[in-house]
Amino acid sequence: MKKTVLITGAAGFLGSHLCDRFMKEGYRVLGMDNLITGDLRNIEHLFPEKDFEFYNHDVSNFVHVSGKLDYILHFASPASPIDYLKIPIQTLKVGSLGTHNLLGLAKEKKARILVASTSEVYGDPAVHPQKESYFGNVNPIGPRGVYDEAKRFQEAITMAYHTYHGLETRIVRIFNTYGPRMRLNDGRVLPAFIGQALRGEDLTIFGDGSQTRSFCYVDDLIEGIYRLLLSDYEQPVNIGNPDEITISDFAEEIVKLTGTGQKVVYKDLPKDDPKQRQPDITVAKEVLGWEPKISRSEGLKITYDYFKTLSKEDLYAKEHNTFEHYIKR
Ligand code: UDP
Repeated sequence: MKKTVLITGAAGFLGSHLCDRFMKEGYRVLGMDNLITGDLRNIEHLFPEKDFEFYNHDVSNFVHVSGKLDYILHFASPASPIDYLKIPIQTLKVGSLGTHNLLGLAKEKKARILVASTSEVYGDPAVHPQKESYFGNVNPIGPRGVYDEAKRFQEAITMAYHTYHGLETRIVRIFNTYGPRMRLNDGRVLPAFIGQALRGEDLTIFGDGSQTRSFCYVDDLIEGIYRLLLSDYEQPVNIGNPDEITISDFAEEIVKLTGTGQKVVYKDLPKDDPKQRQPDITVAKEVLGWEPKISRSEGLKITYDYFKTLSKEDLYAKEHNTFEHYIKR
């Protein structure tokens, strides 16, 4: 009997890579997405597979799945600062009500659930690098508050279901991740820079570019999540690549990678933009035997090759189509 896994956010960047991984591992995969920020093109190659099913559903509403369920991976959420500004209420709802619904489903089905949390729970961190024991420095009413507080609530309710109901839960804190299937127009720095390079535009650095991030290639992240799900560890675990870089140096790397001789221009730094971010991955190393394997230069090359295959229409689209459609409703 194959094990069955429900993956929410299945048509998104991380969700679609998780669907691929679990299919490869021989699971029956139920993918769920309401397609606000997801794109069916990320999973259309799975539609002919008999062990893959797709449900167009918003998990902020009651979630029903018939039959047995062994695992749930909750990856449905807008995840870029531009998205939070455009759909703040949906962002709050999917992290809070959505998580509650999926915890209820997990309890009903006696399934193990892994929820996607984020380095944003650390806010603009006063401790560096960030360990899981750091409580964070979050502005609840700033532009990122809708995401950060939803994810903090998500962790709290997940832990409450674990301690009160004895549910098997896992919490991954995901740091900046990149790779094929990122949305070109989601405003994140990597697709923004690569899109600008491909269109022959200047690269937009926010602030003076001295802020840092640490970028993890998607395959490494998926491996970490897979191991965490199958582990016995019930505390939150940072998964990310500790190789930290300033945004200015990152822009330079993209200019070199694309060979397009782009200039950079400076724009205002968005409010509450974290000044530095680097995961401490000691727990992941000790508990999961995991560490990232793919260097930024390797990962960026694969990702650039992916973005080069996108159509002109995608490259120049101002917004993701389904997203635009949703906002108008
Ligand atoms: N950023 C930038 N130019 C852009 C988009 C983003 O300089 O066109 C900066 C942004 O201000 C932040 C960093 O790049 O300091 C990473 O931004 P992203 O939105 O990718 O993720 P997050 O801030 O959530 O880590």
